Amino acid sequence: MEACAAVEKEVDRLTSKLTSLHEHEQRSLEEFINAIQDIKRELSEAPADHKLSSTQVMTLNQSLKRIRDGVSRISTEHKDLHSSVSKVGKTIDRNFISDFTAVLTEGACEGEDNQRLLNEVICEHFLRQGMLEIAEALNEDAGLNLSQERKEPFLELHRILEALKNKDLGPALQWAEMHRERLSEENSSLEFRLHRLYFIHLIRQGNICQREALLYARNFAPFASQHARELQSLMGSLLYLREGVENSPYSHLLEPIYWQEICDVFTKDACRLMGLSVQSPLSVCIQAGCQALPPLLSIRQVMLQRQVAGVWSNKEELPVEIDLGHHYHFHSIFACPILRQQSTHSNPPMRLVCGHVISKDALSKLSNMNNRVKCPYCPVEQMPSEAKQIFF
Ligand SMILES: [Zn+2]
Repeated sequence: MEACAAVEKEVDRLTSKLTSLHEHEQRSLEEFINAIQDIKRELSEAPADHKLSSTQVMTLNQSLKRIRDGVSRISTEHKDLHSSVSKVGKTIDRNFISDFTAVLTEGACEGEDNQRLLNEVICEHFLRQGMLEIAEALNEDAGLNLSQERKEPFLELHRILEALKNKDLGPALQWAEMHRERLSEENSSLEFRLHRLYFIHLIRQGNICQREALLYARNFAPFASQHARELQSLMGSLLYLREGVENSPYSHLLEPIYWQEICDVFTKDACRLMGLSVQSPLSVCIQAGCQALPPLLSIRQVMLQRQVAGVWSNKEELPVEIDLGHHYHFHSIFACPILRQQSTHSNPPMRLVCGHVISKDALSKLSNMNNRVKCPYCPVEQMPSEAKQIFF
């Protein structure tokens, strides 16, 4: 925050300098233009055979000199501005540390496999954002050779969303019908919402679409029990087709909010069905990183100053707990009650026969010579091999 404030101060200084310079220039240039126009007018008004007196020549030369000096002064002031602009650049360099390697896990971005993974994540992000050309260019440049099956879910998602944004319900309805069974397993209201939007589109047109709207209402049959109240309200709106639904107690149905929410509902449900996360993993990582980096960089600095850099040796665990808020809670975590450490891939939680859970490391530490382990919470004795790994 301090860094931003420092840069902002410098930018403010530059903007006020620029504004005052601009005003000054504007004023001087107007003055010069007026002076030149005056001279031109006087010259044109003079009779053809008029000869300039020496006083007139002197005044003319003086005005020309004044204008020339003024213009060169403006250009010097403009050049001075360069130093102020470059000062902003220097302030940015000074205030923002661009070297994050100190807090990077060793080798995280090195090696062919890691590079490929990184490129794949970036490519998927572009696909997800609908930046298909960029994704394709990266796919080719980085030699990723992403298969069509891998790209297809993103392409389909994007195609349907684009249609929805253009108020075309067709592709989304087709998709929802195709996946009706799985959507209902997930308790999704997507298909109902899509039909409702089409129905609203019909009743908006008034009496001429009455028959069509009534026929279309048959599509609501499978949703009758689940969305009874909404259906009552939709059917009620049919009574006002003659006067126009916009003048009826059902005018809320015409609000644009339904179109906004359908894109969100579709993205959420489609991502769940396709096994994709709703938010781009890359954006989540970057946002979380932006929050986590400043405290990590400062703790690194403190460690270096006190020469205790070795404390941060467990690369899978951060030296301090960083609370990113509930937005970033995606799954449960397990902290071993014995070792008081958060579980990791190499040290996962293990469920003992008695039902108590401890970490794998704790389990092997508690095992005795006879390859038996006594649960630290209840005295049940068991074999360490009987414990089962738990996945969250
Ligand atoms: Zn136990």
